[in-house]
Amino acid sequence: MCGIVGGVSKKNITPVLINGLKKLEYRGYDSAGIVTLCKNNRLNRARAVGRVVNLEKRIKDKETPMDGTIGIAHTRWATHGEPSSRNAHPHICNHTVSVVHNGIIENFLELKATQKADGYTFTSDTDTEVIGHAIHQHLQDSESLLEATQKAILMFKGAYGIGVISPKDPGHVIAARSGSPLVVGISKKGNFIASDQMALLDITKDFIYLLEGDRKSVV
Ligand code: GLU
Repeated sequence: MCGIVGGVSKKNITPVLINGLKKLEYRGYDSAGIVTLCKNNRLNRARAVGRVVNLEKRIKDKETPMDGTIGIAHTRWATHGEPSSRNAHPHICNHTVSVVHNGIIENFLELKATQKADGYTFTSDTDTEVIGHAIHQHLQDSESLLEATQKAILMFKGAYGIGVISPKDPGHVIAARSGSPLVVGISKKGNFIASDQMALLDITKDFIYLLEGDRKSVV
């Protein structure tokens, strides 16, 4: 199991994401990571092996402050690729698409072979990296990150709960699920996603439970 938290907030989202990850610690994990969309519209990432406090330390040590209002975060329980910083989520494709994933993409080897032939490079041993590449590829012929994600998930066999952000579509976090849990939390402070409502209870009690195959654009 692992945990996903993400959202579009009115204020700096990092404290909400870190607090959410801590609430998901009961699910068990081997590493953790976070990406926020900075004020300069760049993806800013921190990852660390072990507990969420290690990630917090990494964030404090960063040169670029993690002060964006849009972001996604993850605690990982490795299924493909050893527990390490390079395998920790979020994964980023070409500075353009960042993804967190809970589950297993069963046909990732097949997708990876095709994506390598298309010129994509891989920086991890996870099954997850094919998700970001597939969405990146579909962004070229899509109007939005939502549309690109909707097209990409048709390619996946297996289980996934995913959160996706991109500087190309900076107002949104895209969420999709099939076989892994995901809820949307609505509040005046912003709108959020999480693997379990527990991660968001400090912010809201207003939840939408995504159904199998749902894809939501959180604004
Ligand atoms: N299969 C993915 C990985 O190994 C996600 C694992 C998880 O659900 O934490 O990175």
